[in-house]
Amino acid sequence: MSSFLVLGTDTDVGKTAFSALWLAAFAEHYAYWKPIETGPSDSGRIRALVPAAQVFPALCSLAEPVAPPLAARRAGVSLPRIEEIAARLPRPAEHRHLLVETFGGPWSPLDESTLQLELIRRLEMPRVLVSSTRLGAVGRTLQCLKALEAAGAPARAVALFGPDDDYARTEIARHADAAVVALQPPREWTSEGVATAAREQIDELRRLFALLEQTAAAPPAGALLPRDRAAVWHPYTPLAKPPSLVCAGADREFLILDDGRRLIDAISSWWTIQNGHRDPALMRALRDATRHVDHVLFAGVTHPWGVELAEILLRSCGFSGGRVFYSDNGSTAVEVALKMAYQYWRLTGRPERVRFVGFEHGYHGDTFGAMAVSRDPVFFGHFEPLLFSADILPLDPGALEAHLRRHAHETAAVILEPLVQGAGGMRMHAPQTLTDLCAVARRHNVLFIADEVLTGGGRTGSVWAFQQAGIEPDLICAAKTLAGGIMPLAATLVHPRVVEPFKDAPPRDTFFHGHSFTGHPLACAVALANWRQASSWTASALRIEAFWRGALARFVGGAGTRAVRIRGAIAALELNSPGGYLSEMKQRITDIAERKGVFLRPLGSVVYALPPYCISEESLQGIVDAFDAIVGDMSH
Ligand code: PMP
Repeated sequence: MSSFLVLGTDTDVGKTAFSALWLAAFAEHYAYWKPIETGPSDSGRIRALVPAAQVFPALCSLAEPVAPPLAARRAGVSLPRIEEIAARLPRPAEHRHLLVETFGGPWSPLDESTLQLELIRRLEMPRVLVSSTRLGAVGRTLQCLKALEAAGAPARAVALFGPDDDYARTEIARHADAAVVALQPPREWTSEGVATAAREQIDELRRLFALLEQTAAAPPAGALLPRDRAAVWHPYTPLAKPPSLVCAGADREFLILDDGRRLIDAISSWWTIQNGHRDPALMRALRDATRHVDHVLFAGVTHPWGVELAEILLRSCGFSGGRVFYSDNGSTAVEVALKMAYQYWRLTGRPERVRFVGFEHGYHGDTFGAMAVSRDPVFFGHFEPLLFSADILPLDPGALEAHLRRHAHETAAVILEPLVQGAGGMRMHAPQTLTDLCAVARRHNVLFIADEVLTGGGRTGSVWAFQQAGIEPDLICAAKTLAGGIMPLAATLVHPRVVEPFKDAPPRDTFFHGHSFTGHPLACAVALANWRQASSWTASALRIEAFWRGALARFVGGAGTRAVRIRGAIAALELNSPGGYLSEMKQRITDIAERKGVFLRPLGSVVYALPPYCISEESLQGIVDAFDAIVGDMSH
């Protein structure tokens, strides 16, 4: 069972009739709320028609029977804003859920600049669309269902009012991803008439009731957390300190908690979510693709989603004639790059090139190869005896030059996170440094791997970070944002010169690597929709960068901060307080941020944000306010 929203294809199609029938059938389970009403009060009608129903008063009730913005203007009042409506969602008595009735249609204006659709999306409840069997029912209903779906607010079911129309019922169900129930309005508009109509149609109403039960939200935290503690092992989390937040949903830049709070996801869910949570175009691409495919193997078989995406990715980095090797997480994209670089040298007659160069504060993932080239003592110190040797150098072209002068002949590749070293503390270097490092590697004929797992997808202000340095890497690793962050997908992009020796290698020299879910078609379909939006990424990152530059300037040289770093959509404050990744400070920082409505995960004494591109100025300011509170707290 679940609270839900009642929408109408139009005004006057039977929303209130539906609400009355529903409450008459399930008064002990549901309460009624219509936040905005004009003309004769629907809340009053429901009270009279279903005396047993719990009816919450409207937030705004206007006498004139016209559109709410017009009625408000004429009455000289202003309508409540979306955030206010959401914040004042009534909490019915124990065990009851809420039926929220909207006015007009989803695209009716809510105020001068907003349509009711925004409110419908914001309320995050299952939706039932009320329509009628009047002439044109199929087309009108499908039009509304499809438009809702495209807007990221799909309806779960349709309640079709009027004389039974088997054709309409079947066709709507056939062409839309929504169940259809057929209902008749009460013959008499009295409480007895409504009760009778509800009794007569109880089977159809129960069918819908069962359907909404299936779509109920996550169980409350009180119930879930002990079960989580007993059954789940979370990443990078001590078993003694399990998570305390329960996420019931996500929308744009927000995580929606089961207690109704909305936290700004300032770190884009571990740097993955690119445009925003549940980006409508991406969710639509996923739904569309599920009509054709689920998962198929990628060895001996190909599919259009994987091929088209590979073509787009190669074009994006100028690797014409290169290849894309798919996997499903950043560590594996790195693992593939390392193995390919190693095998490249074996195939070209230089099998002694087995060493790799990484850089201090680098982080490339958790698999063994990725750990070996990261060498982070906190994360991977325990595994040291198992790691292959790699040379970890200061991030300095001079140091690389000195090293390769002695070791180039035994070195396969250099690996670097271009412009921003993420997990090592959002440390940033100038494009020129990257240009120089790559030039050194090139001069010594050593392959250059750009680990763009964090920086890809426009985060630094260009589609790929390496493009700002005018270099041409040999291998590029991409993951997190590849499918907009909503599906696990990774890729290793291979320059044609690295592909070349593999082209006519004998079967024993095949690149032997692959996973069950390599090139997952649904993930590729979502990625394709994501890359079709690529032309907007740079502007989005630069908009956020401009905001950071204005709002974070006052932290520069301040008592509480040692450094402020900004690159594209990424901003980091290095706090003037001790404490590594494992310090107690981390909990204090996340608690302060949470109280400010922001979800953060500091890296030791570095607090940072890299929000989804759709983030509003208001939410950006919310993050800055959280930074403020953290710096203030740490300075005391
Ligand atoms: N490379 C970089 C630069 C990363 O930041 C990360 C993850 N933070 C990885 C690789 C590993 O990616 P994943 O967590 O998807 O394995």
